[in-house]
Amino acid sequence: MNTVKIDGKMIAQTLREEIKEAVQKKTTKKTPGLAVILVGEDPASKIYVRNKRKMCDAVGFYSEQYTLPADSSESEVMHLVEDLNQNPKIDGILVQLPLPKHIESRRVLDTVSPEKDVDGFHYLNVGKLVANRPGFVSCTPKGIIELLDRSNIEIAGKNAVVVGRSDIVGKPIALLLLHRNATVTICHSKTKDLETICRQADILVAAIGRAQFITKNMVKPGATVIDVGINRLPDGRLVGDVDYEPVSKIVGAITPVPGGVGPMTIAMLLSNTLQSAKWAEKNRTKK
Ligand code: NDP
Repeated sequence: MNTVKIDGKMIAQTLREEIKEAVQKKTTKKTPGLAVILVGEDPASKIYVRNKRKMCDAVGFYSEQYTLPADSSESEVMHLVEDLNQNPKIDGILVQLPLPKHIESRRVLDTVSPEKDVDGFHYLNVGKLVANRPGFVSCTPKGIIELLDRSNIEIAGKNAVVVGRSDIVGKPIALLLLHRNATVTICHSKTKDLETICRQADILVAAIGRAQFITKNMVKPGATVIDVGINRLPDGRLVGDVDYEPVSKIVGAITPVPGGVGPMTIAMLLSNTLQSAKWAEKNRTKK
């Protein structure tokens, strides 16, 4: 089988160039601005935040970073979010997760103005996604749709199976596929006969968080496989939720890990921030 390797790194790069061009052409009067809040010293979070700011710089966005000590109170974090909600330079607010255990993430995320919620985690934006109305959609699922579209993979009428039902990946990608007229099945840890269900998928999305869980016998020959998982093996290798080598031999298209879905997540964060700047201007003109 001539398998297409869906190159997320390249597609994300193209997207970033498009965003940079939009900034240079001043499609918004004001430079789009992103604020990133980091609470504590989690090393992985620090790297994510650094990368997000680097990408902001690369496309010409304005960005601010707030690093709060790990023992900051929930209300301190919420006050900062409220200030940023009012800051006209800022179009998008990103609270880097996970937050320290004594802070209830849900309460902090719900404080972010839905109009600056570029992560798409606020319940109003989740509701808009369910109702298929314009709003912010969380970045990883939005990036998956972009990968499928830019690889000319048809969605309408296809059987799509999503393994995983998290709020940030499984549920929103299932909804996005449904809105694009796929016939969608959502699977989780209590699903019976997962193998049979997965084998019916024309598009299989694995968002489980278990290394190489999806094996060759679970995949229909010729299917498109989207691997969201990021798992570190004991030998240090980074692998997805799909057993890539054997599966890639029988499918029509597949995303690698690393270099598939991952790079799209930050690209979509930039895309959401640009969108936010555009919406903000439109709303201001209306007022
Ligand atoms: P969660 O842990 O929140 O969700 C995992 C889901 O997988 C749950 O719904 C769970 O079912 C399901 N699951 C677990 N075990 C099984 C099983 N044996 N059979 C079927 N379903 C199972 O993970 P996330 O959605 O946050 O992330 C999933 C993966 O994607 C992780 O590896 C994460 O690192 C990665 N990720 C990658 C991103 C990127 O940018 N590339 C962004 C976000 C996540 P149940 O609900 O029943 O417990």
